[in-house]
Amino acid sequence: MGPGGMMGQYYSDFHAGLNDALAYAMLAAIAAALTIGFIISRSVVSPLRKIMDATQRIADGHYDERVQVGGDDELSQLASRFNRMAEKLEQVETMRKRLIGDVSHELRTPLTAIKGSMEGLMDGILPANAETYSDIHQEADRLDRLVNDLQELSRVESGASPLEIRPVETSTLTQTVFKRLSPQYVSKEIALSLDLEPGLPQVMADEDRAVQILTNLLGNALQYTPSNGKVELSVHSHGSEVWFAVQDSGIGLSVEDQQRIFDRFYRVDKSRSRRTGGGSGVGLTIARALVEAMNGRIWVESPGEGKGSTFTFSLPKAK
Ligand code: ADP
Repeated sequence: MGPGGMMGQYYSDFHAGLNDALAYAMLAAIAAALTIGFIISRSVVSPLRKIMDATQRIADGHYDERVQVGGDDELSQLASRFNRMAEKLEQVETMRKRLIGDVSHELRTPLTAIKGSMEGLMDGILPANAETYSDIHQEADRLDRLVNDLQELSRVESGASPLEIRPVETSTLTQTVFKRLSPQYVSKEIALSLDLEPGLPQVMADEDRAVQILTNLLGNALQYTPSNGKVELSVHSHGSEVWFAVQDSGIGLSVEDQQRIFDRFYRVDKSRSRRTGGGSGVGLTIARALVEAMNGRIWVESPGEGKGSTFTFSLPKAK
């Protein structure tokens, strides 16, 4: 065998060895790919499938659906965020149902009264006189106010009418509302006083909305304070805020009422509120939404029923 033949032999041995090595490598690679694929499908695909199934169930209206994914990798974070989103959706859905229930209940009362009076008129049981017509008109008026209040609340809560927040003169704002409501206090014989700290800075607010909140609080104080009572509007600086407080000597509030007073449709005593021409129970809910939209807070304090109450809201000082 010549040297050329030896080389040929080496070459073909090398070739066969290389082929074997490549074949083993390929098998090992396929095995590795299959194993990794299996692991990935276990750890990624199956949690993703769980989340997908849960999404579908929520879309079908099952808002109590949650997913369980262990570990603390991105997938389990996704699952926990998904669960948080589902919780929020569930809350919104509960609120939506309650709102529809509340609104229909509130609408039913004046509607039943109007229908009853109309039937009484048609049957000749009720006299067709000014008093009957005035009663019907009053109930229609209640309906009108309720619908307007709800519309306003929905606009504020959805941010449909954006606020124009800019520096507002605190004393001008306070005095405008004070002067506007004074005549009503005079005619109900309630002493209205003003305690305005001198030299207060401007506040960051939407002026019309701030006027609206203050008017609402002074209006409530007027309504829930008997004649010969006292109401004081005081405006003071508190750190980076200005506090507007309306203190009345009126009917006061129990601890339970103080906690719920800002809830939609909450009225302490529905019959009393109706008799005294009370509103829809949405006024303070709107006030709170407005104050919060202006980065302030609103709260109430009362030593108890019959002992008056103080409603306070804060607005940030302008820099
Ligand atoms: P309304 O339009 O019925 O006055 P609000 O949201 O303004 O609704 O007030 C809710 C309820 O809070 C009222 O029905 C009343 O029972 C109670 N309330 C509000 N202001 C006062 C106050 N100054 N003193 C006592 N109770 C009050």
